[in-house]
Amino acid sequence: MSDPMPDPSDPMPDPSDPMSDPSGPDPDPSGPRGEGLDQRLAVIARHPFRAKFHLRGRDRATAELSGPSTLRWHAYDLIAKRLAPAQPAKDGKQTPYRGHPVFVAQHATATCCRTCLRRWHGIPKGRELSRAERAYVVDVICRWIEREVAGAPTNPGP
Ligand SMILES: [Zn+2]
Repeated sequence: MSDPMPDPSDPMPDPSDPMSDPSGPDPDPSGPRGEGLDQRLAVIARHPFRAKFHLRGRDRATAELSGPSTLRWHAYDLIAKRLAPAQPAKDGKQTPYRGHPVFVAQHATATCCRTCLRRWHGIPKGRELSRAERAYVVDVICRWIEREVAGAPTNPGP
């Protein structure tokens, strides 16, 4: 008999999300991929807290220097470690506000923790993210970074 939960002393039972945000959108079950991505980003960006986040300083430089495929790999790696587990460590506080463009993008796109992921993207808590869900989250993050880098250059140039 193989028990998938070897640690019965888990200190964090799901608190079943005490914060209900009435301004959150209804999760759209009609497919998160494709052109819905920009629409969803636009909806999230209307939220004042999310709209505050932009790439600046070193994080912006990292995004510009890394290139899309490297960033994608970083995003995938960070998501796998910090967001994808059924019970991510420090869920709700696992995403710094700076230090990597992916972190900034996570706050801007509401992919920073499992509560935000559920509220804004309709992905349930309490289980590991599927392959498709990881790919979706990475898509959202990379799309946002792409738009940031393309949208507002910090260096006006000569
Ligand atoms: Zn969050």
